[in-house]
Amino acid sequence: MMTGLADVIDELTIPGTLYEKLDEGKVRCLACGHRCVLKPGQRGICKVRVNREGTLYVPWGYVAGAQTDPIEKKPFAHFLPGSDALTFGMVGCNFHCDYCQNWISSQALCDPNAHFSPYNLQQITPRQVVDYAVKTAAQAVVSSYNEPIITTEWAVAIFKLAKEAGLKCGYVSNGYATPEMLEFLRPYLDGLKIDLKTMQADQYRQLGGKLDVVLDTIRQAVEMGVWVEVVTLVIPGFNDTPEELWETSRFLTAVSRDIPWHVTAFHPDYKMTDRGATPAAALQQAAEIGEETGLHYVYAGNLPGRVDSLENTYCPECRQLLVARQGFRISEYHLTAAGKCPNCQAGIAGIWTDKPEKVRLDGWGMPRRARW
Ligand code: SF4
Repeated sequence: MMTGLADVIDELTIPGTLYEKLDEGKVRCLACGHRCVLKPGQRGICKVRVNREGTLYVPWGYVAGAQTDPIEKKPFAHFLPGSDALTFGMVGCNFHCDYCQNWISSQALCDPNAHFSPYNLQQITPRQVVDYAVKTAAQAVVSSYNEPIITTEWAVAIFKLAKEAGLKCGYVSNGYATPEMLEFLRPYLDGLKIDLKTMQADQYRQLGGKLDVVLDTIRQAVEMGVWVEVVTLVIPGFNDTPEELWETSRFLTAVSRDIPWHVTAFHPDYKMTDRGATPAAALQQAAEIGEETGLHYVYAGNLPGRVDSLENTYCPECRQLLVARQGFRISEYHLTAAGKCPNCQAGIAGIWTDKPEKVRLDGWGMPRRARW
């Protein structure tokens, strides 16, 4: 199955942009922090970018999954809350996290246990993806499911058309980017969700990357003016000590107190089944640490309704309730069209709709499908 999938994936490629040619037919990929140097015939660590006779070929023309659902699922809390996003993904990843929830597609070419069938790939054009978004009333298109950084040329082709259609564009990423990739993506990218998985360099190495690269991506994206939200999956015995959570939160505070920090609950998955789910009390503690370090917006996720009020958005100046949530549902929305607190007029950081009356209230967030 793996050979079949690789053959199909290789067919669905075009010459890329994010690379440089080296001597003797070698190339250096510039998409992610691995900066793979590849001889002719070699694949990158992600397995989906390949050097063919001195040209780097990159994924193109398919999705392994696409659906329109609430943007709160990504999760984004300050990026068009109450809207739907058409989310699409391909296959492959530049990390190999033991607890990946999307491992069937992310590790499709690395783990024979994934049994990912090529029949799950749908060939499609960028125009068809955007038409699908419009047809399903999405207000944003988001690249997610696998790691979008490794398929950035494809995402940019979609985002260019999405912008023309008046849609916002986002990435749900592990943040293992390069400055070159961020510059390439910046004209089209509005929102970036980054997983900051741990503050321990050796833990990051186990997952397949370097901590500093992720920290640099967060800093650079904020400096560029991209809207950034950060997620930390709080995993018992991995990254859940108060000391580490303080360090994570202090780092974010130093970059910007306006970065929303989502602390979310781990559930045993893939290869990490040797520990239980994150208790609600641990999330509560992580959230309190975030607030004590001075972050303006801290959210606790994956335990809807059990960590009261930590799903809601409050004004950091006057504590007015601005957005009330229950899981992916928005039950109250009080921001003004200019993204201000209606009580004290403080500006609330984020990307808000200029038509608050169109915010989806009380929707159940079921996936929306339309004919391609
Ligand atoms: S995206 Fe990253 S892992 Fe893949 S080829 Fe490029 S540098 Fe290597």
